[in-house]
Amino acid sequence: MVNRKQMGLAAAALLALLPLSGCKPKDQVAELETFDGQRAFKAVEALVQISPRDAGTANGKKAADLIFSRLKKLGIHSEIVTFTDDTPDGPKTMHNVIGRIPGKTDRWLIVGSHFDTMPGIPGFQGANDSGSSTGVVLELARIFSGSKPRTGLIFAFFDGEEGIAHYIPGDGLHGSRHFAKQLVEQGEHKQMDGMILLDMVGDRDLQFVLPANSSQPLAKQLLKAAHTTGYRERFSISSSSIITDDHVPFMQAGIPALDIIDFKYGSAPGKNDYWHTSQDNLQHISAESLGLTGSVVREMIKTMIF
Ligand SMILES: [Zn+2]
Repeated sequence: MVNRKQMGLAAAALLALLPLSGCKPKDQVAELETFDGQRAFKAVEALVQISPRDAGTANGKKAADLIFSRLKKLGIHSEIVTFTDDTPDGPKTMHNVIGRIPGKTDRWLIVGSHFDTMPGIPGFQGANDSGSSTGVVLELARIFSGSKPRTGLIFAFFDGEEGIAHYIPGDGLHGSRHFAKQLVEQGEHKQMDGMILLDMVGDRDLQFVLPANSSQPLAKQLLKAAHTTGYRERFSISSSSIITDDHVPFMQAGIPALDIIDFKYGSAPGKNDYWHTSQDNLQHISAESLGLTGSVVREMIKTMIF
C-alpha cells in the first residue's frame, strides 16, 4: 500500500525514467544507442541453445519463434511467414520472420540474415553460420526500434538458406527466394532502396571480403561507414569472387544488394576449416567481432534511412 506522498514520489520517479523508456520516438539520429556486442553475443547463445535448427524441423520453428518473440518485445510489427518449398529431400515447411519499422516515406531498406543450420553435421551449433548474423541483426533491431526514420527498415530472418546438395536451383536460399518473390508479387520491390545481408560475421579473426556479385554503390557506402567507425582495414571488395547467398534473389528482383561475409573461418588466417563443422561453436566467435560488424552496419543504416 502507498500513501499520497509516496504516490507523488513514484510518479515523479516514473516521469524521470520516461525519456529512457523508449516511448519517445527516436527521430533524432543522436538518440540512437550504440551497438552492444555482448548483447548480440547473448542472442547468439540463445539461438545456439536450439541446435541443430535445420529447415523443416521442429527446432527450425522454435528458432523462428524465438526471433519473433524478441522482435515483438521490441514493439516491432512482425510476422512469421510459413511456406512450403521443394527440396532434394522432398517438400519442407519453413518459416521466415519479417519485422518492419515504417518510415515517413514509402521507401524501405532490408537488413537480413538466415537462421537455419546446415543439415547432416554431427554436433553442429552454427554459432557463426548462422548465429552470428542473426544476433547482430537482432541487436540492430533493438537499436532502431522506436525510431521514426525517413526510410522504413525491414528486418528479414530467412529459413532454409542452406542447400543440401547443390544450392540453387531449387536447393537452398529458400527463405530469401520466397521473400523476394513476395515483394515482386506485391509490387513492393520497387520501393526497396537496398538489401544488406549479413552472414558469418562472428569470426574472432574478422576480415571481410565483399563478393564481386554485390551492389557496388552499397559496397562503397559500407566502406565509408567502416572508415567513419575506424574499421576500414577490416573490409575489402573482391573483383572476382562470386558467392551464392541470400542476397542473390534480391539482386535478381532488381533490388541493390550487399553480402557482408567473412568466408574465411578457420584455425589460421585464410583457412575456412571451421565452416560447416562442429568447430563452428561459441568458442570460435567473439562479442568483439559482433560489435565491430554491428557498429559498422549501424552507421551504414543510419546514413541511409534518416
Ligand atoms: Zn552455411
